[in-house]
Amino acid sequence: MGKIKVLDRDTINKIAAGEIIERPASVVKELLENSIDAQADFIEIEIREGGLSLIRVTDNGVGMDKEDCLLAFQRHATSKINSAHDLFNITSFGFRGEALASIGAVSQVLLTSRTNNEAFGHQVSFIGGQLKNIEEIAFNPGTTLEVRNLFFNTPARRKFMKSTSYEAGLITELVTKYSLGHPTIRFKLINNRETVYDTAGLNSVEDRLALIYGDNVANKFLHLPNTELLPGHNVEAWLAQNTLNRNTRNQQTFFINGRMIRSQELSKVLDEAYHTLIPKGRFPLAVLYLQLPSRELDVNIHPAKLQIKINNLDNILNKLVNLFKQSLWSYNDSSIKFLDKTNDKSSKEYLIEHEIVKETPLSYKEEHKEEKPKELNISQEKFFFTDLNQTYSPPKEKTEKFIHFPKQTVVKNSLQQGISVKKIKDLKPIGQLNNSFILAENKQGLYIIDQHACHERILYEKFMVEEEKKEIISESPLIPITLKLTGKQEAVLLKNILILKDCGFIVENFGPRTFILRGVPMGLTKVDIEKDFLDLLEELAVHANLSKAKIKEKIIIMAACKSAVKANQPLSQEEIVFLLKELDKVENAQTCPHGRPIFYHLSMEELFKIFLRGEYPKEAF
Ligand code: ADP
Ligand code: MG
Repeated sequence: MGKIKVLDRDTINKIAAGEIIERPASVVKELLENSIDAQADFIEIEIREGGLSLIRVTDNGVGMDKEDCLLAFQRHATSKINSAHDLFNITSFGFRGEALASIGAVSQVLLTSRTNNEAFGHQVSFIGGQLKNIEEIAFNPGTTLEVRNLFFNTPARRKFMKSTSYEAGLITELVTKYSLGHPTIRFKLINNRETVYDTAGLNSVEDRLALIYGDNVANKFLHLPNTELLPGHNVEAWLAQNTLNRNTRNQQTFFINGRMIRSQELSKVLDEAYHTLIPKGRFPLAVLYLQLPSRELDVNIHPAKLQIKINNLDNILNKLVNLFKQSLWSYNDSSIKFLDKTNDKSSKEYLIEHEIVKETPLSYKEEHKEEKPKELNISQEKFFFTDLNQTYSPPKEKTEKFIHFPKQTVVKNSLQQGISVKKIKDLKPIGQLNNSFILAENKQGLYIIDQHACHERILYEKFMVEEEKKEIISESPLIPITLKLTGKQEAVLLKNILILKDCGFIVENFGPRTFILRGVPMGLTKVDIEKDFLDLLEELAVHANLSKAKIKEKIIIMAACKSAVKANQPLSQEEIVFLLKELDKVENAQTCPHGRPIFYHLSMEELFKIFLRGEYPKEAF
């Protein structure tokens, strides 16, 4: 007798379930898609214990009659396509007809459904794929699918699950993201009997972004209205301003014809569009909608349909990059501000006015306690000017255009390949470009210096030296900071709450997914600490076992970044001179703590080439 056997239905379904139903969130995804396919405009998702003990999805869609209720759980039973031919023109989410069969194979399911044409509904129960019961029941039109004890008969898979709060976090993230793709559908999520998300009355992407991230974050999205790339190929997008970015791609959500997908190509489009606008390794928040002709999509390449193949994708990628770039760069108004003493304010006034020195850098307080003048409540103008005051006294003449650059200043290497920046004794500031870059010159040519990166590096090294052996001290922010977290963020926070406390973040629960930051590391007491804190959570989510030292370093980078002068911030001459002078002292003058370059050098030779002036006559200058 041969060795080959045809597997029984139960085994086949369990194998399929292994592919499609990886964890509770996969069940929710399949059920959501079924409800959307059924044209529901209200979907309620209820979960308990991360979805492992219960997932119940209720919709007000078209419903199923008795026959369909029974067929729905058979493998390859679908109402969505009739033949292989239809595979190439799919407009629904489902078509494989295996989700319910797979879910049924690894859980206990109760399906209740009623169509609009019937006066009553039907209720069908299955355990591990076996039909247990069917009965008529009074019910509103629509469908409820209840999934209990997921993986009860596949213990290996069940063991693979993370904590229930982690699984619940994934589900919350999924539901919130889906709600961005379908703003006309109301989504309500109940976790352990508590409503944690409800889009009732919020029928725009903007409103939902505000519900998910809070107003502060939501109003930093630029909306790119629906635009035709090619006939039948449209895009609409919500792109974060460049200040709004994270250290993973997790907050980038892509929908193609309403289907939420992962796409390396679209991620790359965003990388390209934000190139130079945000540092390497940082990713903008974004929501993209693409509407493409369904015949150009192959959705049948991934069992859970998380990836799809798009024909002629290359035709639109460049167009997308250009379009996104345009809307991002349209923010930038361009002007070079040349240094001019006439309008210069006293530096102290200036710093206070522009809040450059609003927060206390880590550890400054202790070290300079003695010198701090009592009447000042902003403690670090000294910090900023300590060195400057000693070596630099601003010229009195109003007509003097350029500041004398202190002799001892040496600017170190630029990052550019092949260019070695020599010791420059006489680097002269020219001015400031777009309030963001310092322009300076010497005989070798032009230097463009990123003012933020430059200051960040200076502060980072200062803090690092001072902080190496100290504990981080926590202090209360002026106004307690309220954080609205996603389910996933909440899970990460709860897991790391003690180590965060050691690092100076004192967090208190304040209602569903809402927390208050009562204490923050000294030096970070300012309102937009929120973003950094969320970044830190994201980081902790990715690297589960970050050491305390690593977290501490991250906090120092944050503090440096926060205290540093920003892009788009006018600088006085003194500040420019100060920055260049301080930069000279640091150990690594090439990149900021995040790894971005600080300098760009445009040599006289290059300028001569650009302007077709022949060889640059070095000797003449
Ligand atoms: P698919 O979605 O790939 O067709 P499923 O196993 O997810 O396969 O569902 C099988 C069938 O059950 C669907 O084709 C649809 O006809 C029906 N169905 C499932 N969920 C619902 C729902 N919420 N409302 C109405 N019909 C549904
Ligand atoms: Mg389906």
